[in-house]
Amino acid sequence: MEIIRIIRIMQDTSKGHLLHSRSIGFVPTMGALHEGHLSLVRRARQENDITVVSIFVNPLQFGPLEDFERYPRDIEGDTAKLREEEIDILFLPDTSLIYPEGFSTYIEVEKISEKLCGAFRPGHFRGIATVVTKLLNIVKPTRAYFGQKDYQQAVIIKRLVKDLNMDVDIVVCPTIREHDGLAMSSRNTYLNKTEREAATVIYRCLTEASDLIRSGIINGIYIKGLMHERLLKEPAVSGIDYAGVYDPETLDELLEIKGDALLAVAVKIGDTRLIDNMLVTTTKGR
Ligand code: AMP
Repeated sequence: MEIIRIIRIMQDTSKGHLLHSRSIGFVPTMGALHEGHLSLVRRARQENDITVVSIFVNPLQFGPLEDFERYPRDIEGDTAKLREEEIDILFLPDTSLIYPEGFSTYIEVEKISEKLCGAFRPGHFRGIATVVTKLLNIVKPTRAYFGQKDYQQAVIIKRLVKDLNMDVDIVVCPTIREHDGLAMSSRNTYLNKTEREAATVIYRCLTEASDLIRSGIINGIYIKGLMHERLLKEPAVSGIDYAGVYDPETLDELLEIKGDALLAVAVKIGDTRLIDNMLVTTTKGR
């Protein structure tokens, strides 16, 4: 596994592979790697000749009161895990190289960036869209891999790649969960024992709502009410940013469920903000 820190070297290395018709699979991450990340890495390895993983904690996607400083970092552990996965390149750029003095170009994906998490984290998706565009320009992948865990992020990236005619396939991979259903996340390390147990309410809330939809309930507002009730019953839930039923493409709230539906939740457990979602596919025109 080669470790590359310099942008120009990463670009030239990718150009070399593409010149030899080798496909490049790319997994951008913020590190503190867990099985969720590694599932993307394995998929990228399966489907491409060369696998590149980046680790970059992107300051641009954190708000001033958010957890940028204390976000978990474990470069040594991450490097060992990626070596074990036998990836080809670990791209580890420094913040000063990604955002040099004078940096002033930003990518804004309108409308869908303002919904769900965007309404509670202003600038978050602008930060993500900007860094992902830069990373795609640097790594030049054939395919880039993202997790369904961050559903809105995946929708936004697909939109931006389409709108800007970027020549890359975006592959969205299923959410990997702990044994009790909690979606794996680097932020789970913030939870104490009580909070960790309480956090399973998110998955239970999603599966219950999904079962209701499958059983034929089509009233989105009713389902949303039940989801809120379920979450608020758990004393460790200190706040709900959103929980409800949404259109999987536009992310608009669904009053009536006529086709596929996205169940999505963002809650605070103690001081930790956790998100999760579930897609419910139903027979069209029920
Ligand atoms: P992050 O390091 O949190 O920016 O995540 C890097 C990539 O891993 C993103 O595409 C995430 O959606 C994906 N990811 C994070 N957690 C999971 C998970 N539990 N299952 C699948 N993919 C995940």
